[in-house]
Amino acid sequence: MVYKSINPYTGKINKTYEQINDSELENIIFSSSRAFRKWKNEPIEKRQDLLIKLADLLEIEKDFHAATITSEMGKPINQSIVEIEKSALACRYYAERADEFLKPVKQSSYAGTSIIRYDPQGIVFAIMPWNFPYWQVIRCMAPALAAGNSVLLKHASNVPQCAENIENAVINAGFPSGIFRNLLIDYDQVTTVIKSEYVRSVSLTGSNTAGIRIASLAGLNIKKLVLELGGNDAFVVFNDADLEKAAEALIYGRFQNTGQSCIASKRLFIHEQVYPEFLNLVTGRIKALSAGDPISHDTFIGPLVNESAVRKVERQVKETVEMGAEIILGGKAGIPRKGFFEPTVLINVNYDSPLAREEVFGPVLPVFSFKDYDELVCRVNQSRFGLGCSVFTSDNKLMEKLSVDIDTGTVVFNSFTKSDPALPFGGVKESGYGRELSEYGIMEFVNIKTVTVY
Ligand code: NAP
Repeated sequence: MVYKSINPYTGKINKTYEQINDSELENIIFSSSRAFRKWKNEPIEKRQDLLIKLADLLEIEKDFHAATITSEMGKPINQSIVEIEKSALACRYYAERADEFLKPVKQSSYAGTSIIRYDPQGIVFAIMPWNFPYWQVIRCMAPALAAGNSVLLKHASNVPQCAENIENAVINAGFPSGIFRNLLIDYDQVTTVIKSEYVRSVSLTGSNTAGIRIASLAGLNIKKLVLELGGNDAFVVFNDADLEKAAEALIYGRFQNTGQSCIASKRLFIHEQVYPEFLNLVTGRIKALSAGDPISHDTFIGPLVNESAVRKVERQVKETVEMGAEIILGGKAGIPRKGFFEPTVLINVNYDSPLAREEVFGPVLPVFSFKDYDELVCRVNQSRFGLGCSVFTSDNKLMEKLSVDIDTGTVVFNSFTKSDPALPFGGVKESGYGRELSEYGIMEFVNIKTVTVY
């Protein structure tokens, strides 16, 4: 298999890479396991210092890394820069807090006193997506390395340059050889890695199709697994909301990364009393979004990742219109040029249509109205996914009730849903299981070992 890095805006090939063969893979797994045995006994301060060096390096080389993201998957450059800054922040977060999270704890028990230790597991295998090609890798890798594991990465096949750059940054920061390796491998070789006795944990961020396959393999081989899958998040506007603020947040919530985010606000629910006013406000802002060359600092909407992504969004919109929805803005592929999908708003959307039920990875916003609390909660929770939800209201009592009733991994009030190194991130239902980031994220990659002396 040849890996092709293709610029989604120009259609030109940036670079190609060859897949590694099975014996090369075997050697890499073995050297990763050897690197782990040394690394796990290094003082944690050393692991933390290296993470700081990696953060410094990412910041120094920010423009280079951001340009690679943009040329490889089409993210508008300002947003690529933010992605690198946030990735550096995640390294700093674990560099500053890992020793505290991993400190052994004394625990009194029926036996007397025991010690709970947080030991590394071995090799962590990270299988990652293209949509945040640095952030997704680093939010898994930083806690895994801080905890004393080694990491093997199988990145999405359309972002091999990002994968190579991350590996180089890790080496240049001074991490020991073999501790983090990028693997150019196919799906059969993914199976080989998961089966390996040295690989103790798997972390997949990706689609539900990949989730089913990787969860089955991990299950068959009894490997610990974190699954970060798709989402169909709601964005809710109550009648007491600050409408200007909500409209501004929704632009980022739905349209940043050209709508290709797991926690994008993919369904808009507006209280009937403010429906016309809010719809007007938000469509006005969407019309003003500039689409064009993602390398320009003036661009907010870039191309979708590839032509098949455009065709998928087109199909989802078409079928939703066939089920009765009305397009009030946009709706077409190929504008302003091939590879793009226009920012699109639809009303009168059927709850059984693709835009209501499926994950839509593009700049498309289906709008629903609601009358009361019970109807809203029922509609928001009527999804196979359960990643996040954003709600705009000024009523504190309502916030308390919704925090309990909304069935997702994250609920955000008066902003759009975003991840933060210090906050646990993950989903329920078909959005997956396990948590990334925060103290909970590092705990996914440790052996919680109980030591008792009788
Ligand atoms: P994807 O097609 O599922 O790919 C994700 C990774 O899994 C890639 O490295 C891919 O490799 C690999 N993969 C896919 N099928 C595989 C199989 N059968 N065997 C072995 N490896 C396999 O997803 P994507 O298009 O890259 O990313 C978009 C999806 O990720 C969306 O659904 C989005 O919601 C989700 N996502 C979730 C989160 C979260 O935190 N919950 C965050 C970001 C993205 P290839 O590229 O070689 O196919």
